[in-house]
Amino acid sequence: MTLPTPATRPSALDLRALADSAQTLQGELALAELARWSADAPPWPTALEPLRWQAEAQWRADPASVPGAGRSEARQLWLRLRWSAQVPLLCQRCLEPFLEPLQDGRWFRFVADEARAAAEDEGCAEDLLVWVPRFNLQELIEDELLLALPLVPMHEACPSALPGHAEAAAGVGVPQRPNPFEVLAQRKPD
Ligand SMILES: [Zn+2]
Repeated sequence: MTLPTPATRPSALDLRALADSAQTLQGELALAELARWSADAPPWPTALEPLRWQAEAQWRADPASVPGAGRSEARQLWLRLRWSAQVPLLCQRCLEPFLEPLQDGRWFRFVADEARAAAEDEGCAEDLLVWVPRFNLQELIEDELLLALPLVPMHEACPSALPGHAEAAAGVGVPQRPNPFEVLAQRKPD
């Protein structure tokens, strides 16, 4: 009998066991499963690619540990999460939805409780998380995705002219949007 791998249950991970195993977990999450993200996401006409994630946990020596301290106090538990996704966003300029590739990766350090996290947060560069026996990685992934969303999503170049724009008012064909560099070149005096 084989136990299910932790990757099948990213909502209840034993991170100590993961660190002991020195394995990298990876998996996919349907964006629709992320309820907080879904609540504000623009509708998208076709099926979305799942978010892909990788997680590894690591024991590191605690630089503040004193000789003779118990083993659990002499080491710290760290987690690295990496993810990527194609996320539908609503362009704030033309109000059309578009797909934006987003990705991020970082290390988190676990501390024993909220008090420790509050005390150490100011003095360290890394992000701190409070250790729990069954860690909800899916929630962290969703936190990270929400953090990575642009505040004002916008196409680099909107596919259609804005209503009220000069070319739209003049009835110029919209899909053949002029290359902005060509426009600049034409404006240059000879
Ligand atoms: Zn746009």
